[in-house]
Amino acid sequence: MKKAKVNKGQIVIVSGPSGAGKSTICQRVVEMLDEACLSVSVTTRPKSKTEKDGIDYWFISKKEFQDRIDKGLLLEYANVFGNMYGTPKDKVDEILKAGKIIILEIDVQGARQVKAVYPDAIMIFILPPSEKVLAERIANRGRDSSDSVELRLDGANAEIAAARQYYEHMVVNEDLQQAVNTCVQIIRQARA
Ligand code: 5GP
Repeated sequence: MKKAKVNKGQIVIVSGPSGAGKSTICQRVVEMLDEACLSVSVTTRPKSKTEKDGIDYWFISKKEFQDRIDKGLLLEYANVFGNMYGTPKDKVDEILKAGKIIILEIDVQGARQVKAVYPDAIMIFILPPSEKVLAERIANRGRDSSDSVELRLDGANAEIAAARQYYEHMVVNEDLQQAVNTCVQIIRQARA
């Protein structure tokens, strides 16, 4: 009797400086790949006016965050621009068990932690078309104070330098749909 093909679960890590457009890319990738979903991180960062709890992030206190670390509930976590961010382990385990794809939109520090546990994780880094465009995008987001814009821009340059040595795939977000298509292709190829 022919055995049914069982799909292996797949972790896809998508990183990139804030303002590179990775959230939009991740959402579009999920729309194009039936079996893919997005991980929702926990964070101690304050919620912006446009964000929704449980959709963009789970917004939690520092104490709750520490509790989750202590209980081993996070697959990875990192301090990014002075706030804590982490990936809940339960959702990742559930999706992998179901043989589906889970996309983690996380920073370079977190990516390294995940890759250490799941060496098969696909690593994609989204680059802005230029530093000028990146600075404009960060400033236009309106969520940040001017201090924080500078912090994010410095952080972005450091992150890009680290990523060039570490990530398997670098995707430039010059044309959004093209960047999305490239990410989908990378994921499909890895699963073929
Ligand atoms: P933002 O505050 O702009 O939403 O995110 C700031 C940075 O935190 C981004 O680089 C984003 O990828 C990263 N980030 C978001 N969630 C997580 C997470 O769960 N873990 C880690 N390590 N980084 C995260």
